[in-house]
This record gives sequence, structure tokens and C-alpha cells, in this order.
Amino acid sequence: MAKQEDIFKNVISHAKEYGFIFPSSEIYDGLSAVYDYAQNGVELKKNIRDYWWKSMVQMHENIVGIDAAIFMHPTTWKASGHVDAFNDPLIDNKDSKKRYRADVLIEDYAEKLNQKAQKEIEKAKARFGDAFDEAQYVATNERVKGYLDQKTAILQRMAKGLDSGDLADVKALIEELEIACPESGSKNWTEVRQFNLMFGTKLGASADTAMDLYLRPETAQGIFVNFLNVQKTGRMKIPFGIAQTGKAFRNEIVARQFIFRMREFEQMEMQFFVKPGEEMKWYEYWKETRLKWHNSLGLGAENYRFHDHEKLAHYANAAADIEFNFPFGFKELEGIHSRTDFDLKAHEQFSGKKLQYFDTEENRNYVPYVVETSVGLDRMFLAVFSKALQEETLEDGSTRTVLRLPSVLAPTKAAVLPLVKKDGLPEVAREIVDDLKWDFNVAYDEKDAVGRRYRRQDALGTPFCITVDHQTLEDKTVTIRHRDTMEQQRVAISELRGIINNEVSMRNWLMKM
Ligand code: ATP
Repeated sequence: MAKQEDIFKNVISHAKEYGFIFPSSEIYDGLSAVYDYAQNGVELKKNIRDYWWKSMVQMHENIVGIDAAIFMHPTTWKASGHVDAFNDPLIDNKDSKKRYRADVLIEDYAEKLNQKAQKEIEKAKARFGDAFDEAQYVATNERVKGYLDQKTAILQRMAKGLDSGDLADVKALIEELEIACPESGSKNWTEVRQFNLMFGTKLGASADTAMDLYLRPETAQGIFVNFLNVQKTGRMKIPFGIAQTGKAFRNEIVARQFIFRMREFEQMEMQFFVKPGEEMKWYEYWKETRLKWHNSLGLGAENYRFHDHEKLAHYANAAADIEFNFPFGFKELEGIHSRTDFDLKAHEQFSGKKLQYFDTEENRNYVPYVVETSVGLDRMFLAVFSKALQEETLEDGSTRTVLRLPSVLAPTKAAVLPLVKKDGLPEVAREIVDDLKWDFNVAYDEKDAVGRRYRRQDALGTPFCITVDHQTLEDKTVTIRHRDTMEQQRVAISELRGIINNEVSMRNWLMKM
């Protein structure tokens, strides 16, 4: 556990030290769960977005993109259910003045029971060796069964209270379980209240005419309200998709874990409109396709898993998460949801406008069903960045920090380094930069010994270092060093563009899908 925490701390400090992510308005001590992308972070983030956009929009004839505004007519959020149901139950501790999610307090308690049961199981496993029958042990051992039954009963009672709006019972449960504030140990709790996660704001100049608005909590609704505009002007035939990337805002009650849970974040979403009855086929298709996309980045298939939802949101008839093995364990990275015709029908009802498709093959109108893929860009960043950051021990016993970013996503593709700051080497290096910069993000660095410059580029994730030395002046060759293997090759300057392109082109990476 301690090790995982150390890895995560290291990720956060590396992101800051090497200009990837800064806390927002840091000179004023920051703003909780809000972050700024720095000079290298913005490039990595842009490359992830481009990689997604290319695979979704450019590579699919039947998917187009839009960029809807963050402000939307407030009725949008009535129709989508966000005004009434986008809530988390919160509770305050009166002594510590700390605020918690009531469901998380209860779930943490239930998880402790689960861990107690697992501990007993591990002990028994060690005692009985090969002869151990876990299922039988769990079913018959009174203590273990007790822990697990209690856990299930607690979670069921909580779900019932939340679903039926009986928040007094949720509070009663917290009191009966004697759950204390993790900070102060106090059991002096307020009532449980529902807390809407949307940020409100106002549009308009004077107080009496101003309109209450929300900052969008998801990008999806911008797609639904434009469904018919896009279908008609793009002459789209079902099945087709509309993709969008952009900011979303949620007033998360407990926002922790760096850029995993932010209050302002970016989503990459695609809504795929299909014929009613065909949604499960497409749901399976998109689950598989999205996993392939993640795997194409080469971070290791063992770091992804599906989690199928048993409890479905009000709009869904099937839902799964792609979970990623973050430094703090497997957690949701992307959601794939079969949203039925819930959203379009709701917008029809609230707007009084028809949002239907005329199917020429079937000669009838219908409201399409929707399969959604929704991935957080910041969570993708954290997934890639945390897996890429590695400490290596080299053959000579020394260590190096290397950010093994998939080269297609690396902020800078190559750094050009004159071996010394004289004899005309900087001039030649600059000529190489001036040529390569038409195609790639490249850096020039002449400060410090060349070994230290290599290490710095390793820590930034730059796939190639190109070194200009005295031989370059004679025969127009340079050494090119590969980040991952540290191998060096002597190549002609004229070959550089081809070598770099072969390694970083999206074409070559996406072909692996
Ligand atoms: P969670 O259960 O983690 O709160 P969610 O199920 O509410 O997530 P969705 O509404 O399905 O998330 O949003 C789709 C994606 O948007 C998520 O898979 C995640 O990658 C991203 N996302 C959601 N909330 C946040 C947040 N507060 N900060 C960063 N990314 C987020």
C-alpha cells in the first residue's frame, strides 16, 4: 500500500517538476480539484485528444464531430434528469466541520467488513493448503459468513434509502454502525442532504431579467439537442455517430486523487444512433472497439478490465466501464452505455419538437436508440502518464527516470543537441530543428553535458535525441538515440524525418487496433 502511495506521489511531483501539470492559481495556494496543464502537459493532452478524434471521426465515415457551447438552455438539464437526479448524498460532521459523501462513508464501512472476511479466507488458505475449498469455507464458516452477510445487508439498506429518498434512514444507518468522522473521531453528524453536482450561474445583465444557467456536467446533451440538425445537414444515415470533446463541470463533494476527480474536466464522448432493437449489437461492438483503442497504446492489456454495471442509471439498459489500473488501483476510465431512446424522447417532450429519423428502408419514423462511449481526457492523461513513469536501474548500477510515453503521444518528438556550444555545431543543430519543425514538435537544447541532456529528455518522454558532433560537419551524419533502449545509431541528416515519422505517426499506431 505504502508503495502505491509513493508511486502516486512521484507521479504528481514529476508532473509538476517537468512542466506537465500545475495546481490552479498556485500563487494563491491553489483551488481544490482544479488544475492547469503546463507547457508539456498541454501537448500530451492535445495528442491524446487528437488520437481519439482521429480514430473516432476521421477513421469512421459515419461519425462526425461537433463543438457545442458549454452554456445550454436550462430546460436541457430538466429534460436530461440532471436537475432532479444528478445528486450525491452529503453529510457534515458538526465537530470537525468536514463534509463527506454519506454513501462513501457507508461503503467504506462495508469494505472493511469485506477485508476482514478476506483476511480470514487468506489465513484458512494458508492453513489448509491445496485441499482448501474457498466456496465451501465461505458458505460454512460462521464468522466469514457473518461479515459478508452484514456487508450485503448494509449496502442493500443504503441503496433502498437512497432510491426511495429516505435520507433519514441513511443517517440512522450511519449512527447504528457508529461510523465516526475519519478526521476527528466524532459521531456528531448533521442530517443527510442531497447535493446537486451542477454549478449554477446567471446569464443576463440585470438581476430581474437574468436567467439561471448551469455549466454543463457532461458534453452528451450538446449532441442530443443537435441530433436532428446534424442528421439533416450531414445527410446522415442510421447507424451514425456524433463525437465531441470539451469541458464539463461537476461540483464533486470529495475531490481527491489529483486529476482523477476534478471539478472542471474534459470529456471525449461519442453518441452512436442506431435502429431500436439493434442497440445490444452496437453496445458490444463499441465495448470491443474502445478496448482495442486503449490497447493500441501498448500500456499492457493486463492494466484494463471491464466492469459491467448491475445497477443501471435511469436511462440505460446496459452499461460497462473500462477500468484502468491507476496507481491507487483499478478505477473507471471510460463508460460505455446503452442509453436507449431516453434522452431524445425526453428532449421531444420538453421542447415539443420531433427528434425522429425517417428510415427510408423501413418507410417509417422512429426515435433512434443511442450507444454512448464516454472517456475522461484528464483520466486518460493520468492513465498514460502514471504507467509511463518508470525508474530504471542501468547495467552500471546507476538509475534513470524515464517517461515511456507512447511516442505517438509524446509532447516533443525529438530534441536536437549540439555536442558542444562552439565550432559551428549549434548552427547545424538549429538548421536541423528548422527543417524538422514543419512536421514535428522538436526542441533545441545546448545547456549542460550531453549525458544530462539525455536524462532530461528521458524524463520528459522525448522518444529521440539527435546529437550533432564534429563528424556531422564532415559527412552530414548525426547520432540518433532511442529513449527506451538508449541505443545510438549513426544516420544521415536526410534520413531523420523518415525515422521519426515511422515511430510517431498515428497511422502506424492506430493500425495496431
Ligand atoms: P465516477 O463514477 O468516477 O464519478 P461517472 O460514472 O460519474 O464517474 P460519467 O458520468 O460516466 O462518470 O463520465 C464519463 C467519464 O468522464 C468517466 O469515465 C471519467 O473518465 C470522466 N469523469 C467523470 N467525472 C470526472 C471528474 N470529476 N474528473 C475527471 N474525469 C471525470
